[in-house]
Amino acid sequence: MALYIVPTPIGNLGDITRRAAEMLSRVDFVIAEDTRRTRKLLSHLGIGKRIVSHYRPKEETQADRIVAMLKKQDGALVSDSGTPGISDPGFTLVRKAIAAGIAVIPLPGPTAFVPALVASGIDPRRFLFLGFPPRHRGERRRFLKTLSPLPYTLVLYESPQRLGSLLQDAFAVLGDRDFALAREISKKHERIVRSRLGSRQAALQEETLLGEMVVVIAGSPGCAQAEEAPLLENTDDLYDFFRQRFGMGKNALKKILMKKRAKSGPGHER
Ligand code: SAM
Repeated sequence: MALYIVPTPIGNLGDITRRAAEMLSRVDFVIAEDTRRTRKLLSHLGIGKRIVSHYRPKEETQADRIVAMLKKQDGALVSDSGTPGISDPGFTLVRKAIAAGIAVIPLPGPTAFVPALVASGIDPRRFLFLGFPPRHRGERRRFLKTLSPLPYTLVLYESPQRLGSLLQDAFAVLGDRDFALAREISKKHERIVRSRLGSRQAALQEETLLGEMVVVIAGSPGCAQAEEAPLLENTDDLYDFFRQRFGMGKNALKKILMKKRAKSGPGHER
């Protein structure tokens, strides 16, 4: 039988896809994070269905039982909102289902980070989705430090209570970069705030610090995206590139290259 992964709305109930609704009514049982919340959604859709609970921290043991059920019946995995497995339970069950030879069939649908990223105005071509950052300052700063040199847009989930500390640490570690807050996507109080980490205070009015939100931060400006990398065909191109990008003259660059060669010694030239 099969495990269907079924995304559910992140706010606006109209965002459920027709296929998701059909699948929820077709399967033998639904696997849910919060059974009461899922029952509400199912009754909104006019579906009565057996619901099996699957939540942290009991994922591991519950998954074994659910996999045994999936050997005989079709099940649909949902979470409280959005796509299961995205900062929600799901990964353990999917891994165990695959190991047991059960077909895993994903349905496309709602998730918070994609709309936030595409509306942020920050480069969506290459990005890292990071889920929730560490809660404690030291660990969070170390986490941001590892991300600091990367040229990719950073996408994070954060609670309103910790948003101020995250942005403060991001400014301290990453420097002044563009960022966007996508708050309450698809809901009545949806709002997207775009600012710079250095002027974050102005962006953080009281109403911004409420509800669910996604934080999008620009990647490191010091590193060109791969598709923007210059084509360097000979040493003159290389000199031009360093002059334009870093204001470095031919002689300065030659000196650096000669020093590097002397350090590498014979047989280590590159
Ligand atoms: N599975 C979900 C998904 O696919 O996006 C994510 C679940 S995670 C437990 C909840 C977090 O997602 C929230 O704290 C918030 O960061 C983000 N989120 C969920 N719904 C949102 C919304 N309507 N607007 C903005 N962010 C949202």
